Amino acid sequence: MSIYAELGLSPIINASGAVTRLGGAPMPEAVLDAYVAAAAECVPLEQLQGKACTIISEVTGTEAGLVTSGAAASLTLGAAAILTGLDIGRMERLPQTGDLGDNSAAGMANEFIFSREQRNGYDHAVRAAGAHFVEVGMNEIVANAGVRRTEAWEYEAAIGPNTAGVLYVFGRESAPALTEVVEVAHRHGLPVLVDAAGELYPRTNLRAITSTGADLVAFSGGKAIRSGQSSGILCGKRDLVSAAALQMLDMDDHWDLWDPPSNLIDKTKLSGLPRHGIGRGFKVSKEEIVALLTALRLFNDGAYDAEYDTSMGLLNSIATLLSDCAVDCDITEDPLRSRPPLLVVTVDEAAAGKNVLEICRNLRNGTPPVYLGHGLLDKSQLSVNPLHLNEHSATALAQALRAQLSVKK
Ligand SMILES: *Cc1c(COP(=O)(O)O)cnc(C)c1O
Repeated sequence: MSIYAELGLSPIINASGAVTRLGGAPMPEAVLDAYVAAAAECVPLEQLQGKACTIISEVTGTEAGLVTSGAAASLTLGAAAILTGLDIGRMERLPQTGDLGDNSAAGMANEFIFSREQRNGYDHAVRAAGAHFVEVGMNEIVANAGVRRTEAWEYEAAIGPNTAGVLYVFGRESAPALTEVVEVAHRHGLPVLVDAAGELYPRTNLRAITSTGADLVAFSGGKAIRSGQSSGILCGKRDLVSAAALQMLDMDDHWDLWDPPSNLIDKTKLSGLPRHGIGRGFKVSKEEIVALLTALRLFNDGAYDAEYDTSMGLLNSIATLLSDCAVDCDITEDPLRSRPPLLVVTVDEAAAGKNVLEICRNLRNGTPPVYLGHGLLDKSQLSVNPLHLNEHSATALAQALRAQLSVKK
């Protein structure tokens, strides 16, 4: 019996991919084995993060890296690191960054310059550290009142005495290019924090994004890398990664006994032992660290690439099972095969007698529940991501969808 059924829950057919609310990515057997093996013994967590630092920096071409509890945690920790540097008094004050009001302590520079068109729900993670945004650019294309995107000079014009850094959300369509933003920021001695949570695939982004010179980059561990859904990576400049590690790790040690790995934390640069930092609630277990490192190696070595043909086979078999229904099936493929294919089903809603929203809802309420991608509902389209599917669940999905559609005469 399914462990979820024992709890009175129905396991679902997930055709939405590695989304957090449905459980993240499927963990390969080698990753699960690593998780179990890691649970059998104890090691000092900071020593383990020191090894992770070496491996992540090799894979990403950076000075240092840290395993976090997800890309959102990486963003809070990255922002915290930029706000405090290695100043342990500042670490203690977060998320209080501005003037404390009673003149008992001066405020610290706390503004992050951020393109208005890149604002998104995940940026809450950056504000959680005590950062405030200074928005630049317009949103003219969405407003249908212009054609221009945010431009590099706008970042430069917004820099002032209270600027702590620059925040950038990386995407294939992001503008201006990250290299331009890094150039402006570095000319003014400011660090750049990059949200690249979902930008793997392609695999080459592990190095391409950091190679722009960006100071800190956040990746998810529970998406394409396929480690636990509550894992992530923060990588970049050594002192900043070090400041992030200090604000996440358990600090309840004795200064004279404390011997952190010098590649991650250079004790000689610290004036004392900080107390638990703002990231203490984002702690990562030894099992999660080892699992993430195992998954990162598999991902980076291309171990998942062989699944491309299997995924195509599954999506084609679903399309074949729908061939006598009033739908159009289209499999979108990346010419480089650097990301998994996606099946897009365009529904003839008149023929079906219901719209795609109702179909989606009915499938979620079915037995077993089926969760299709709902990002294209306004185009009368449903999408099928093959990441979590196998032959059995793909057939069950196609049958459940057939039952919602009218069959062509
Ligand atoms: C998924 C995502 C996040 C959050 O990543 P987690 O690893 O789930 O914390 C942040 N930013 C963007 C752009 C994302 O796509």
